[in-house]
Amino acid sequence: MTLRPTDSSTLLIDGKLVPGSGGTFEVFDPTTEEVLGHAADGTPADLDAAIDAARRAFDHTDWSRDHTFRAHCLRQLRDAIRGHIEELREITIAEVGAPRFLTAAAHLEGPVDDLLWFADLAENYSWKQDLGNASPMGIPTHRYLLKEATGVVGAITPWNFPHQINFAKIGPALAAGNTVVLKPAPDTPWCAALIGRIAAEETDIPAGVLNIVTSSDHRIGALLSEDPRVDLISFTGSTATGKSVMRAASESLKKVFLELGGKSAFVVLDDADLRAACSMAAFTVCTHAGQGCAITTRLLVPRARYDEAVEATAKTLQGLRPGDPRDSGTICGPLISARQRDRVEGYIRLAVEEGGTVVVGGGRPTEHDRGFFVEPTLISGLDNSARTAQEEIFGPVLVILPHDGDDDAVRIANDSPYGLSGAVYGTDPDRIARVVAGVRTGTLGVNGGIWYAADAPFGGYKQSGIGREMGLAGFEEYLETKLVAEPAL
Ligand code: NAD
Repeated sequence: MTLRPTDSSTLLIDGKLVPGSGGTFEVFDPTTEEVLGHAADGTPADLDAAIDAARRAFDHTDWSRDHTFRAHCLRQLRDAIRGHIEELREITIAEVGAPRFLTAAAHLEGPVDDLLWFADLAENYSWKQDLGNASPMGIPTHRYLLKEATGVVGAITPWNFPHQINFAKIGPALAAGNTVVLKPAPDTPWCAALIGRIAAEETDIPAGVLNIVTSSDHRIGALLSEDPRVDLISFTGSTATGKSVMRAASESLKKVFLELGGKSAFVVLDDADLRAACSMAAFTVCTHAGQGCAITTRLLVPRARYDEAVEATAKTLQGLRPGDPRDSGTICGPLISARQRDRVEGYIRLAVEEGGTVVVGGGRPTEHDRGFFVEPTLISGLDNSARTAQEEIFGPVLVILPHDGDDDAVRIANDSPYGLSGAVYGTDPDRIARVVAGVRTGTLGVNGGIWYAADAPFGGYKQSGIGREMGLAGFEEYLETKLVAEPAL
């Protein structure tokens, strides 16, 4: 099979690849602004059929109990995707504007291979856990726990790292024995539709276990969230949408698992190599044009060396010009859409209105006459109360803020509605440990440490989310716990 998504993109419902009842919608290349092709436009009726199929597959098949078969299916899916990896790479670069250098790790191979970790877990997890004997109310009793799949999972995903986020939901949800209805973002339907096609044509995943409904209509996500046949919503996206997902899910009191936005701090202590740290902060904010929830977008530097830090950060940013993501040397590609570019440009204007200075960037790169590019931008002269420092921009925009020592840096890092991620650079391990203990976020990288891995739980404090993705904790999000008590022998 050759993957040609252009006009043959389909939904996956009940094991069948079907057209969307709403016809098709356009898929754009953010680098050229041209229409790449079309995707199947799923409607509420398609979603209804997908949920129905997922419900039947959960309630009336052995899927949730056959751990070995599930492990087999996940390994098969990973191998089948690997067989198409080069085709998928080109499609992902075109559809997402993902820089080629990032596809090998975070965008494609890394997340695809993570399926193996979840397959192993399906086989090796302790599905039955002995609690031993006790004598509640004087009656000798033996207790054990059964860990069971939650049921039908509605997975709703954003456009920024579509494969990573789709697999981070499909992998553990299926490994745990659930059935899934995946609703990807309208900006990146092909990444999901092609995985559906591979699953349908090249794996033994039974009908109804994995359903994929691409759609131009955001309401499909809302309908999935409120549907009483769905037992759990696993959502990744903005905090505002996460709140409405939670409201919609509350009507049927379903479990919600939310991975939301961030405004993470990059803390440079006064014993760090300032120039190296600032360079790293600049590089980080340009990666995938800043379209990462966990990217550090507030750079906190010692006040006494603020000017030096501004100069070092600016120098690195000036060298990181936005480029064509098809080139292997490109770090900063385009933003996903004109809408997203308008949003980022709006925040740069706001920064100036708030009294900030655009030290570098601030506009569209003159070397590109097409594509949704924004120059890597450094904003100085604001304090942390500015909206530019408080709100998620989701573009290559870094706000540099002064701090007055370690405690003040922790205070500023925590002065945010978000708590997703962060970075600390310093030399003294005791000081670093105090900062790590003080910062309230779900992940932290120290002196360049990378926290992403299949076995490493990722997620947010505060308004950055509820629950954890990946790792054992991420797998267990998709499980229920049944306590069984019997007379002790
Ligand atoms: P978004 O919230 O606009 O959309 C995310 C998904 O929700 C899309 O599939 C969309 O169609 C769907 N949706 C829209 N309205 C809905 C509704 N009312 N009910 C249910 N679903 C609905 O987010 P986006 O713009 O696609 O992605 C960017 C956001 O995602 C950023 O805020 C970013 O921080 C966040 N994000 C978080 C993580 C994380 O792991 N914490 C990872 C990546 C992205």
